[in-house]
Amino acid sequence: MACPMSAALCTILSLLPYNFEYQTPADLASPKQLHDGDVYDFIIVGAGPAGSVLANRLSEIPSWKVLLLESGGEESKLGEIPAFQPFLSQTRFTWNYTTVPDDRICAGAPCLWVTGRGLGGGSLHNNMIYNRGNSHTFDEWEQMGNAGWGYEEMLYYFKKSENNQDPLIARNKIYHSTKGPQTVSQFPYVDKNVKKIIETFHQLGYPDADINGVNQTGVCLMQHLQKDGGRQSSAKSFLYPIREKRNNLKIVTNVRVTKVIINPQTKEAEGVEYTWENKRHVKGKVYARKEVIISTGPMATPQLLMLSGVGPNKTLVPLGIDVIQNLPVGQNYQNHIQSGSLNFTLNDTNIMMPNDEETLRDFLDYFTKRRGPLASEGFFDVSAFISSRYTDSSYPDVQIICSKISTLE
Ligand SMILES: Cc1cc2nc3c(=O)[nH]c(=O)nc-3n(C[C@H](O)[C@H](O)[C@H](O)COP(=O)(O)OP(=O)(O)OC[C@H]3O[C@@H](n4cnc5c(N)ncnc54)[C@H](O)[C@@H]3O)c2cc1C
Repeated sequence: MACPMSAALCTILSLLPYNFEYQTPADLASPKQLHDGDVYDFIIVGAGPAGSVLANRLSEIPSWKVLLLESGGEESKLGEIPAFQPFLSQTRFTWNYTTVPDDRICAGAPCLWVTGRGLGGGSLHNNMIYNRGNSHTFDEWEQMGNAGWGYEEMLYYFKKSENNQDPLIARNKIYHSTKGPQTVSQFPYVDKNVKKIIETFHQLGYPDADINGVNQTGVCLMQHLQKDGGRQSSAKSFLYPIREKRNNLKIVTNVRVTKVIINPQTKEAEGVEYTWENKRHVKGKVYARKEVIISTGPMATPQLLMLSGVGPNKTLVPLGIDVIQNLPVGQNYQNHIQSGSLNFTLNDTNIMMPNDEETLRDFLDYFTKRRGPLASEGFFDVSAFISSRYTDSSYPDVQIICSKISTLE
């Protein structure tokens, strides 16, 4: 089929599969670092944002041997380009799950259910938005009995990881820090339509908001987990700076954990069973003296627990899995609720369907200076947080996001 976009853009897009589909030779060789029967202090399964931070923090103690296992591979250079985010949903950086068809959603077809895969997990494909969440939510979690999850204690850790590069936001030292490993800032390019949208919200009475500050209500040009116009994944922030320096941390990609080995008497995790992703017949076991940590994300974590015998009897027994603990694992899955959109047609659509000349200029700008439209996510960079009649202004319950719909005429 003929490519409906400009020739230059078509050529560039045709190169993406080589970056986005195939594992690198280093990834394919990585499992060779594992030896059946090896013992570590901690085994961390899954190298998404959670696993990356844990691997970094635990390996600060030189006497602890830490193993980080990840099913996917290393990130790619092209995946760092913010404007390429929409192309990443069905690549080797995601698991390509779909939902069971349901007449009420996605016009009855299976919906794509994107979840990250690789060193960096979801931070390899997601929108990079730096939004910690509302303080009330953390305080509610604490009130439910989760000691240590209140906002004040969380703020200490948010700041510990943050390196905020926008001086106007970073000057609020109560909420921000410039000392952590995770670089955050607004994208260097702001589309003129984005500026107009912000102006419009101002006219409606919404103030500029720092959504990670004292009050979220208002409109903002969001900050992103990015550095100098490029995606700053959790692997880049928390793993790459230490992987060659700490020899007590072993990072292995392209290995899938298939089961946590749990002692049925003590109910303690003793290790994990694994298989190579590219050679499924190669299997092995590794053991943990202290802890096995499962940080495989919202879908694979309950799945792995269930495969290991922790889950509802009614699911496990018919599958022939020995039940170690009957628990309602996987029963509280929640995702964003998103409603339909209001659509507007714009006259000036410079970030939508560029012609050849503009495309080449944009690529040149990006690769020489890390500037221009490719160093942004376009309309997605602006967001407004508003309070409906069901809440007060300190706890907004509606987020307005903007995105583009291109018409190929
Ligand atoms: C489309 C989209 C956009 C998003 N945008 C944003 C955003 O802008 N800002 C934001 O903060 N959040 C965003 N998120 C959410 C964010 O990506 C997740 O909250 C985050 O990635 C969760 O981190 P995690 O470490 O818990 O799990 P994950 O990121 O899911 O990482 C889990 C890792 O475990 C690995 N794994 C799974 N099973 C196994 C196994 N059996 N063996 C070995 N490894 C395994 C996976 O490959 C993966 O790398 C977005 C999510 C989606 C889907």
